[in-house]
Amino acid sequence: MAESIKILTGNFDVPGIEQLDVYRKNGGYAGLEKALKQMSPDEIVEEVKKSGVRGRGGAGFPMGMKWGFLAKPEGVPRYLVCNGDESEPGTFKDHYLMMKSPHLLIEGMIISSFALGANTSFIYVRGELMYVINILEKAIAEAKAAGLLGKNILGTGYDLELVVQPGGGAYICGEETALLESLEGKRGNPRNKPPFPAVKGLYQCPTVVNNVESISTTPWIVLNGGEEYAKVGIGRSTGTKLISASGHVKNPGVYEIELGLPVEEFIYSDQYLGGIRDGHGLKAVVAGGSSVPILPKDLILKTAAGEPRLMSYESLSDGGFASGTMLGSGGFIAMDETTCIVRNTWNFSRFYRHESCGQCSPCREGTGWMEKVLYRIEHGKGNERDIDLLVDVAKKIEGNTICPLGDAAAWPVASAIRHFRDEFEWHVKNPEAATKKGAVYQPE
Ligand code: NAD
Ligand code: SF4
Repeated sequence: MAESIKILTGNFDVPGIEQLDVYRKNGGYAGLEKALKQMSPDEIVEEVKKSGVRGRGGAGFPMGMKWGFLAKPEGVPRYLVCNGDESEPGTFKDHYLMMKSPHLLIEGMIISSFALGANTSFIYVRGELMYVINILEKAIAEAKAAGLLGKNILGTGYDLELVVQPGGGAYICGEETALLESLEGKRGNPRNKPPFPAVKGLYQCPTVVNNVESISTTPWIVLNGGEEYAKVGIGRSTGTKLISASGHVKNPGVYEIELGLPVEEFIYSDQYLGGIRDGHGLKAVVAGGSSVPILPKDLILKTAAGEPRLMSYESLSDGGFASGTMLGSGGFIAMDETTCIVRNTWNFSRFYRHESCGQCSPCREGTGWMEKVLYRIEHGKGNERDIDLLVDVAKKIEGNTICPLGDAAAWPVASAIRHFRDEFEWHVKNPEAATKKGAVYQPE
């Protein structure tokens, strides 16, 4: 595939692009001018629907459809909330986008707020990223001084206040309803859905919650049209996607790729990850942040049907849970053959146990049990029944919880056992060898 079109990152290497004057000289805020002066809110919603762009936070829900669900009761305020909490292990693309080009997100926020009829909007940023919050606040002050925010934006009569809110410091605050609770000043506990935020969200008012990357696509869509956006990508996976690549690759970092790029090309081409470090071979990949199933090398490069696996929502999940993974948030973690899958799975499960909010029993108790059992296997104290016990606990969590954290904790464990059972068995049968420093199972 030729070099990807850059819908989001085309200007990111321009020195000073985080400053308003440089951003404007490079075409910035032209989308806003067009949206506010030449388009109605409904026309903008229509273009976003035509683009087919899907939520870039991880769920991949069509953004235009979500906007279409927004309730509009008379006299009730509506809100747009940008989810910049980004706490998924292996995911750091929103952080990068906000740091590099804050005005891109701000422009997207103004366009999207206008389209949705919101006059107060929020950017909820992971609390640990104070320097990103400072960058955004500086850019908001610049935009305000230039008449791009506040009262009567660009003389059109449209008013918008944009508030940056530091996050509550917990992974669960990135779940949209927990985020809304946190924004209201409460503990970040997820709410039951329905009602969805589009009907009852912030302060029980209709609210759209969109990811940083999703909102940042709107200036391009407004300028070029939804149909042009839909020509990029493949099938229902339209457009480009930011991928945060980490792990044992030669060139980790954030990449904007056209959806549909073959996974093999993404991993091995010098234009992207440049292959696996130090001459090692690839062992496994988690394609969409730690919450999605892990796949062994053979299945990440090709689907179960032998087709090349593509970086798209459909291709990555082709074959369902048995042989697929998910594009998710685009947190692509590559592991080479020096990786111990048991240790890695235990590590992920420690994270989910720590981050469970504790509201529902299957998640609260199940994440604790999975972590304990994985600890014993990893530390040479497991037995063969423990492997099936883990599968059983994972199955009992999946689908039985208020929010997706339960599934996110269960899938990595169940998929690791499905694809790397030999490695778990080796640990329980050879505790002495398996607990030696640096020991990694080698298939016969
Ligand atoms: P979801 O599928 O429940 O919802 C997706 C979006 O569509 C939500 O905004 C929801 O309100 C909306 N929606 C769905 N059905 C609707 C309806 N009938 N009416 C109105 N709105 C509707 O998924 P989710 O819980 O929002 O997100 C889960 C995903 O989050 C996971 O797949 C994971 O990849 C991702 N995730 C990302 C991070 C990160 O740091 N980026 C962290 C954890 C999880
Ligand atoms: Fe809390 Fe876990 Fe239940 Fe989500 S699934 S509400 S994190 S206990």
